[in-house]
Amino acid sequence: MNAPRTTAELQAADSAHFLHPFTDFQGLARKGARIIERAENIYLWDTEGHKILDAMSGLWCVNVGYGQKALVDAATKQMQQLPFYNAFFQTATVPAIELAERLAQVTPPQFQHVFFSSSGSESNDTIVRMVRRYWDVLGQPQRSIIISRHNAYHGSTMAGASLGGMIGMHAQGGLPIPGIVHIEQPYWWDHGREQGLTREAFGLQAAHWLEEKILSSGPENVAAFIGEPIQGAGGVIIPPSTYWPEVQRICRKYGVLLVSDEVICGFGRTGQWFGCETMGFEPDLMTFAKGVTSGYVPLGGVMVGERVARVLIEQGGEFNHGYTYSGHPVACAVALANIGLIQELKLVEHVREDVGPYLAQAYAQLAEHPLVGEAQTCGLMGALLLVKDKARGTAFPEALAMGMVCRGHCFREGVIMRAVGDRMIIAPPLVITRAQIDEMVALIRRCLDLTLADAVK
Ligand code: PLP
Repeated sequence: MNAPRTTAELQAADSAHFLHPFTDFQGLARKGARIIERAENIYLWDTEGHKILDAMSGLWCVNVGYGQKALVDAATKQMQQLPFYNAFFQTATVPAIELAERLAQVTPPQFQHVFFSSSGSESNDTIVRMVRRYWDVLGQPQRSIIISRHNAYHGSTMAGASLGGMIGMHAQGGLPIPGIVHIEQPYWWDHGREQGLTREAFGLQAAHWLEEKILSSGPENVAAFIGEPIQGAGGVIIPPSTYWPEVQRICRKYGVLLVSDEVICGFGRTGQWFGCETMGFEPDLMTFAKGVTSGYVPLGGVMVGERVARVLIEQGGEFNHGYTYSGHPVACAVALANIGLIQELKLVEHVREDVGPYLAQAYAQLAEHPLVGEAQTCGLMGALLLVKDKARGTAFPEALAMGMVCRGHCFREGVIMRAVGDRMIIAPPLVITRAQIDEMVALIRRCLDLTLADAVK
């Protein structure tokens, strides 16, 4: 057997051949990637033997934690029995059927049907095709505009990135595609605080931006509104409690379809099965991915509410859309095992009643830190905003990139947090315990102290 390759050898091969997503290729080649070799529970180990607490669940996905044998066994068994068969030829596989049935049980009652994909991006692409098809079938093809929000993240395909509101993504490749427009995000700190609005009053104002956009576009032209219950990649922006119920009221008033992107919030992250349940609204469609398999294998999909399903099924004829891997049997078998485990370990209740409130308490203490302007959590999503002047809430100059400074300390201290501007965000695995939250928060506090020391230099 060959000797294992050294980290340096692997890094050289990495930079010679592997173009990483959302990465400055040359910048990474200069530094060399950290190479993650194995994982267990909420911890990772790199090829240099460092142990790292993964406070981001991989990329918001490893909800049941690493090393869950039930998922590995489900994949192995299904690979041996039937590694692949498609769902195009008027055929189906047992795991795909059973997962569709199980999803109808764990999602809100309006959802009885699912369209499978392999990722969040593909799911949101499906949304664009599906909502436009819905209005077509109803004889209103002009109803094609989809409203989304600035700083939203809905994926990286042409439609996903267009639905998203990331300036950097729109700047590359001529996005957004036609018919997708954006309103401001419900971020109180940036848009409500200086106007002296309470969070609740601001939530209503932010929802009314949607009404203004519907009216200026012409309600007869608007197909749907899409949003993440809590914006994840945008920096864990937790909207005021007034926001979503008002958004729902406005969508209903104008007949606009309401789409919840549950790619991050789904499968227990917020302390309910789905983020829309936590935020108090009933969407017509929901997209999901990540947590459905805890990231062990790729799978995504769209839950189609009865309003849309009835039209597509009873009047739509053939829907000319689908992916080779729609309903992939191995991915569906893993998802079934994953959902089974979430239920068996009572992870949704664990987040809602135990570790979610415990994290909220710990974050309330971190809010006292001199570097922290605001600390927020919902379930097991959390954000700390780093500020220059705590009393006034003044931001650091962008050029200092304090978020990245803090992220660098996290990296060295052995905890993975993500920086979105100066918002430091976390979304740890749902299996995390109180003791592990103490450990994570102690590491975060240490990184804040180190960052503060840099800030005053
Ligand atoms: N939607 C949301 C809310 C996401 O956070 C993501 C990914 O982070 C996506 C969609 C895209 O998912 P994927 O990367 O699986 O295509």
